[in-house]
Amino acid sequence: MKPGDSSDLTALFERAAREGARYRADLPIRPVAPPGLDAEKLRAAFGDTLGDDPVDPDDVLTELLTAAGPGLVASSGPRFFGLVIGGALPAASAADILTTGWDQNALNPVISPAALAAEERAGIWIKDLLGIPASASAGFVTGGQAANTVGLAAARHHQLAAAGWDVESDGLAGAPRVRVVAGAERHATIDRALRLLGFGTAVLEPVAAAADGSLDPDDLARVLAAGPDGPLIVCLQAGNVNTGAVDPLRRSADLVHAHGGWVHVDGAFGLWAGACPSTRPLVDGVELADSWACDAHKWLNVPYDSGLAFCAHPEAHAAAVSYTATYLVGSGTATPTGSDFSLESSRRARGFAVWAALRELGRDGVADLVDRACALARRFASALAEGGAEIANDVVLNQVLVRFGDDERTDRVVAAVQQEGTCWLGGTTWRGRRHLRISVINHLTTPDDVDASAAAVLRIAAEM
Ligand SMILES: *Cc1c(COP(=O)(O)O)cnc(C)c1O
Repeated sequence: MKPGDSSDLTALFERAAREGARYRADLPIRPVAPPGLDAEKLRAAFGDTLGDDPVDPDDVLTELLTAAGPGLVASSGPRFFGLVIGGALPAASAADILTTGWDQNALNPVISPAALAAEERAGIWIKDLLGIPASASAGFVTGGQAANTVGLAAARHHQLAAAGWDVESDGLAGAPRVRVVAGAERHATIDRALRLLGFGTAVLEPVAAAADGSLDPDDLARVLAAGPDGPLIVCLQAGNVNTGAVDPLRRSADLVHAHGGWVHVDGAFGLWAGACPSTRPLVDGVELADSWACDAHKWLNVPYDSGLAFCAHPEAHAAAVSYTATYLVGSGTATPTGSDFSLESSRRARGFAVWAALRELGRDGVADLVDRACALARRFASALAEGGAEIANDVVLNQVLVRFGDDERTDRVVAAVQQEGTCWLGGTTWRGRRHLRISVINHLTTPDDVDASAAAVLRIAAEM
């Protein structure tokens, strides 16, 4: 293949797209976990030392297909219920392929006007769907971890600026103390964000959880009253990774604001409850927060990776993470955009795929996606309960916790289900006991997938 020869590139792209589509078409019928995986063989298939000579791109593609194939997990398929992993909608996937073809750097509106315009429109639509104020800024980032880090960086800036301290210039050494409060059931990415931002995790003042894993607002009131006035950041959560429970956002936000604090909501998947009439009451008061972390690669079913950081105080958002350099035009200006709201400098143009997912679904389609996942989670729970399993949570969203007798048997069921291949789900520890954890979040999942998966789990458990 010669440089500039577009016919060869077309053939190469077509082959890559065709292979990707073939893989997707097989998802409903292939075993979820790779059967008989030999990890050593998989590593060896990617080669040893890098050869000296160039390889034809088409041959590279052949090598990659051969090497990677045996190690792929059908996590984008309809019967993968592990972690909280969304699928990939057709238009969003195609837009992502185009994003690679276009190879834009979404740094700012000068370097890629189209990427920034797509982000702007997708951000407006998502704020509207989730109930986040239209005036909030939106940063397109890699995922929930980055969104939590950006949101808490904005919080750190805002709370310390109010105390007369310029943390971007002077750092945290010698700064007024910032209280950081979060629910005992927070996601681990909150802790990592606190580490990266120089707060450390020891600063955290935990708030007790209610029985469903949501934050107990009475304990929040107690914790807030017990400490000194001054800079304060409180992390709430929409969507407990075990139970799906949402913190009482309105009451908590009112309490925190009465203490002059900043409310950050980690809603990587749970914020999408706001996009569906039947689940919207769960996130009542969401609009009161100061910053929000959300994923597009979970419930919106945008291909990896894609997350959003929203902030009710765009100037604090930009002050915390924007940057500029003498050779840059379009960044760090009076009207910040793009990379001024994210951790990255050069960035993939993630807005195209997010925009395409929203256009493909429309407002009703997003609501239906959320509604369907919740209904299928309830269906899964009912089928397992009827088969004698213990359902440990109130299935308020898309997460189900299941127990088979004791810890040991529950773990054996998890391992055997993963091995058997009909579906994939993980284990978790909830309230000190082992559980099997189910997350229904893929647009491809049908009632038949749930029925077949529940039957497989019960069949395996019966043999234990
Ligand atoms: C998934 C998740 C995260 C982390 O998101 P990534 O996209 O994996 O970085 C944070 N918080 C919650 C509640 C999550 O479910």
